[in-house]
Amino acid sequence: MKKFKRVLIANRGEIAIRVAKTLRELDIESVMLFTDEEKDLPHASFGDISINLGSGPLSDTYLNISKLVELCKEHKVDAVHPGYGFLSERAPFAKALKEAGVELIGPPTAAMEAMGDKKTSKEIMEKAGIPLIPGYHGDNQESDFLAKEAVKIGFPILIKASAGGGGKGMRIVEKDSEFQEALESAKREAMNAFGDDKVLIEKYITDPRHIEVQVMSDTHGQHFHFWERECSIQRRYQKIVEESPSPALSQSLREEICQTAVKISETMNYVGAGTVEFILDKDGSFYFLEMNTRLQVEHPITEMVTGSDLVQLQIRVAQGEKLPFTQSEIHQNGHAIEVRIYAENPDQDFMPSIGTIDVVGESRLLGVRLDSGYKAGNEVTTSFDPMIAKLIVWSTGRTEAINKMDKALSDYPFLGLTTNRDYLKRILKHETFREGVTFTHFVKTYADDLKARSLSREEVIQAILAYEFMGTTTKLAENEAHVTTAWDQLSGFRLN
Ligand code: ADP
Repeated sequence: MKKFKRVLIANRGEIAIRVAKTLRELDIESVMLFTDEEKDLPHASFGDISINLGSGPLSDTYLNISKLVELCKEHKVDAVHPGYGFLSERAPFAKALKEAGVELIGPPTAAMEAMGDKKTSKEIMEKAGIPLIPGYHGDNQESDFLAKEAVKIGFPILIKASAGGGGKGMRIVEKDSEFQEALESAKREAMNAFGDDKVLIEKYITDPRHIEVQVMSDTHGQHFHFWERECSIQRRYQKIVEESPSPALSQSLREEICQTAVKISETMNYVGAGTVEFILDKDGSFYFLEMNTRLQVEHPITEMVTGSDLVQLQIRVAQGEKLPFTQSEIHQNGHAIEVRIYAENPDQDFMPSIGTIDVVGESRLLGVRLDSGYKAGNEVTTSFDPMIAKLIVWSTGRTEAINKMDKALSDYPFLGLTTNRDYLKRILKHETFREGVTFTHFVKTYADDLKARSLSREEVIQAILAYEFMGTTTKLAENEAHVTTAWDQLSGFRLN
């Protein structure tokens, strides 16, 4: 069995820090990357070795495969952890590392390639008897043919780019007469984003839930699942609140979905950490959506309910170790929720915001984990993803976890720039969410309920006093369920 001595983390921000923490626990040296612009960010100085990638577009820094491979050689690293995003699912990166004799802490290239294309992955799943959303994913791309297929499936339908990701190249079509125009625009967007305009068509499931299963496989043919996460609360097809277990599943349906995910891992001869995503319809039918061949943003909730360190397991698998447990030893215990804190303005169509973080905050609770890429004094710019932190809480039950998250969000105000914090609080307080009725159009359906209410003059004054004298937002946040915070309204008002 191999034992890594030094690992390069080909990523930044909160995920680079999260991976480095596990490396430290395992006595493996971490090599961290940063750019000129990120010198003061926590990840830049978090590792044992820090490398400045200079400046320029991402293609010159974090996405520059040859540069990263050279750095691996120069610093004699044994393996690379790619985090999520960036190069984590790019087969050419995996191949270049292999040629250089560096291990990728990730799946085999074949699995990465097969799952990177929606059409290919569906073909494999169809053969394996995995339930798919009714639709067409064949080779014929002629528009008249596709239009006929759409009629066969029955409207509404969804056009998806085969090479797609992040909701790009996706179009809902309500009726026959709108099909051709939607097809053209989906193809145009797909060509621009992925250089490939192949599409597939699916039945559009109204108000579904997004359920995903964490899987982990070793090189000895063992395939495990670490139960499910529910990620139905999304904006622009991107998750903002995730929880485990899902409030929607009976124990038998849970077992069935998780077993299906394991079957998919077996079919793929999978190795390492992966996530199988499903769409769950109101009648309990579930369908394979896609498999992400990497660690997910929302992995911490699984770590909290199963008491495992998924990054540690990834590393042990990459070192060739046989995982020393059985499926029946992996339990779901209690309830965990994660929220993604974004530098963005939910009241202006989630437009990214920029600024300097004056105060991050500090937790006054047990069972709270903040995975943040920023500290007080740091500047948030538009150069990188607007997700600045993830807040994760664990408690004995769902209601307890929701209440705890509401308090935890008060403890971490991230003052100085506009964030989605209060918006997240409004979701947590929403009656329908609290009842466990979550679905992918939640945010759209309850847009009016989730809007910020303006503060009265008195409330603004009260908030300023609380801010000045207590140095915290807690007082206001605990008293007010449905308001925007005062500093959002006090343009120019800053600490100091
Ligand atoms: P991407 O790879 O672009 O993220 P996915 O296929 O993973 O696209 O779908 C992203 C999200 O879009 C899902 O989580 C779900 O909310 C929604 N979605 C996808 N397919 C369907 C469908 N057939 N019906 C309804 N919603 C869907």
